[in-house]
Amino acid sequence: MNEKNSYGFTTTILHSDRQKNIEHGSVHKPVHTSVLFGYKDARDLAAVFQGKQSGYRYGRQGNPTVSALEDKITSMEAGVSTITFATGMAAIGAVFQALLRAGDHIVSSKFLFGNTNSLWQTASGQGLDVSLVDATAVVNVEAALTPATRMVFVETIANPRTQIADLKRIGRLCQERGILFVVDNTITSPYLFQPKTVGASLVVNSLTKYIAGHGNVLGGALTDTGLFDWAAYPNIADNFRKQAPAQQGMAQVRAKALRDFGATLSPEAAHQIAVGAETMALRMERECANAMAIATMLAADSRVAAVHYPGLASHPQHALANELFLAYGALFSFELKPEIDCFDYLNRLNLAISATHLGDTRTLVIPVAHTIFFEMGAERRAEMGIADSLIRVSVGIEDTQDLLDDFSQALNF
Ligand SMILES: *Cc1c(COP(=O)(O)O)cnc(C)c1O
Repeated sequence: MNEKNSYGFTTTILHSDRQKNIEHGSVHKPVHTSVLFGYKDARDLAAVFQGKQSGYRYGRQGNPTVSALEDKITSMEAGVSTITFATGMAAIGAVFQALLRAGDHIVSSKFLFGNTNSLWQTASGQGLDVSLVDATAVVNVEAALTPATRMVFVETIANPRTQIADLKRIGRLCQERGILFVVDNTITSPYLFQPKTVGASLVVNSLTKYIAGHGNVLGGALTDTGLFDWAAYPNIADNFRKQAPAQQGMAQVRAKALRDFGATLSPEAAHQIAVGAETMALRMERECANAMAIATMLAADSRVAAVHYPGLASHPQHALANELFLAYGALFSFELKPEIDCFDYLNRLNLAISATHLGDTRTLVIPVAHTIFFEMGAERRAEMGIADSLIRVSVGIEDTQDLLDDFSQALNF
């Protein structure tokens, strides 16, 4: 399939399954529901178990429908291999379970997805040493490094305040120091940004969000970009050292995280995600354009105290966003002036749905301090720059004028 890499993003996804000669000319990879895979020659079964022959063993560690999706994610991220999981959190948990050990130190961002922040707290209780820094400047990451630092983990655009990590310089720092660099690409999606271009070792995507896109399926993925030297990584167990160096990391993740912990993506879910992925680029273009239009309108309104969107020239990392991303994303947040109650405002919206989720075809809004960031408390919220009135908006594909009308009528009361 030499021609494959020369096609554009959407063409590649659309024709990915078909190029693998599926029976009856099917254009979708069929949903293989079998949990087990039988072998006529028991020696072949043994060879598969011993890694001498490729093949499936048991549904928890892999399935042909799931593999077809993994191939698509690998090409979206220009990586070398992908492992999918039941959710995005399971993909992040896999990094912790399979690649880190008690006593290791990691550096991550202060401005982090709430559940990942919670996972690092859990990890701290299990012997991992975690430093959370302001990753918008590489100096803060560098200052936190210790001889025990094994991994730097950042997101591209932080949710909900849209801070952008100093991705290029952090990538260079990690490469110089031989540190595993993991980038959660969920908010940008591989259509807007490929973390491989800034030296990421592994890329996380919550498939639940933009890649699947329709709020009807959960999934997560971890992609190896091929840039990291696994042979030099101290946390690879002896039995995985028998593999080719380039495959050691993912072989260990597939065994230790997927086999041992079992957060496997179902073939039905893999099929739904693959269908959603076909239109991701189209949806992202519309969602980013809609986000720009609404953010610009709100920023010009005197009843709005602040708008946080990388597409606005006032955003502290606007120039960085221009340099790194194809567009500014479909997520923004804003604060109303004190005279407008954020709950009343949300209740006046007719189209935008008050719900926790992002990356959906429908526009979603949420009062962040009172919901997804409530548990962490006022002090930590203040550190993260989350005002009580902050509303996060995940912009959908509705017609632009309908959204502008909705967000503007809710200001008039
Ligand atoms: C949603 C999200 C996740 C977790 O994904 P799930 O599929 O919901 O488990 C991880 N990282 C980021 C940035 C997210 O937005």
